Amino acid sequence: MRIRVFTILSFLLLWFPGSVLALTRQVAITIDDLPAVLMSNHQDQLKTNQRILEVLDKYQVKATGFVIGNKVPGKSDIFELWLKRGQELGNHTYSHMDLDQVDASTYETDIIKGAFEIEKLLSGYDKSLRYFRFPYLHTGRNTEKGNQVREYLKENCYTIAPVTINPYDWEYNSWYVKAWGSNQKNQKEHIKKIYLERIKTSIAEAESVSWEHYGRNIKQIILLHLNRINGEVLDQVLDYFVQSGYSFITLEDALSDPAYSPEGELTKPQIFTWPAKPEIMLPISR
Ligand SMILES: [Zn+2]
Repeated sequence: MRIRVFTILSFLLLWFPGSVLALTRQVAITIDDLPAVLMSNHQDQLKTNQRILEVLDKYQVKATGFVIGNKVPGKSDIFELWLKRGQELGNHTYSHMDLDQVDASTYETDIIKGAFEIEKLLSGYDKSLRYFRFPYLHTGRNTEKGNQVREYLKENCYTIAPVTINPYDWEYNSWYVKAWGSNQKNQKEHIKKIYLERIKTSIAEAESVSWEHYGRNIKQIILLHLNRINGEVLDQVLDYFVQSGYSFITLEDALSDPAYSPEGELTKPQIFTWPAKPEIMLPISR
C-alpha cells in the first residue's frame, strides 16, 4: 500500500509538481496569553497548561507560547513544563499592551520589561527569545509608531509572529467560563460544539484567502489562547487538522514560506487584516 501511495505521489510530482504542492497542508500552532486567561487559581492554571502540553505531545506538536511578562512571577513551575518539553516561548509584552493606545517608546519599554521576565525563564534551557506577537494583533501597520516598533523589533532580533487562522477562541472561552462557573452542563457542551464549528470555518476561510492571494495554500499559523475551552477541546481541534490532511510544523518552518517576509509579516499586507471578526451566534442556554 505504501509503495503504491509512493508511486502515485512520484507520478504526480513528476507530471504535476504544482498539484502536489497544492495538496500540502501545514500549520504552526501558536498559543497566546501564557500562563492563562480568565483563570485565577494557580492549580487550575497548572492543570490546564499540563493538559494542553500533553495534547501537543500526543500530536508531536512543537508550538510557540506567547508570554505576558507581568504574569511570570510565581509561575515558573508552569513555564518549566513548557521548556522541559522543548516548546518555544515568545514575547507578548509585559502588560499585554495595546499599540493603538500608547506611543512607540512606551511600547518598546513594555517589550523590554517582558523580555527581562521571559529571559530569566529561558536562561537554564540554552534558548533565546526570538518571536514577538502584538497583543490584540494591533500591529500599527502603516503608522509612524508602527514603523518605529518594527525597527526596534528588527534591531533586537525579533521575528514578528503573524496569524492566518483566527477562530476568536477567546470569545467562546468567555462564554465557556461563565457556563463552567454556573455549572451549566448543556450550555458547556453547546459552546464546545459551536467553537469546533468555528475552528472548521476559520480553517476554510484561511485556505480560501490563501488561494486568492497566493494561488496556493500557504503554511498556515493558527492563533489560540491558553484558556479553559482549549484545555477541554484542543485534542479535537488538532484531530480535525489531521483529518483534513494537515501536518504540524514549527513557527520557524511556517515562516520559511515565501508568503512571509524575513521579519515575519505576510508579504501581502491586506491579508493581515483578515479574517474579519465573525458574527458569532450567541449560544442557546440549556
Ligand atoms: Zn494576547
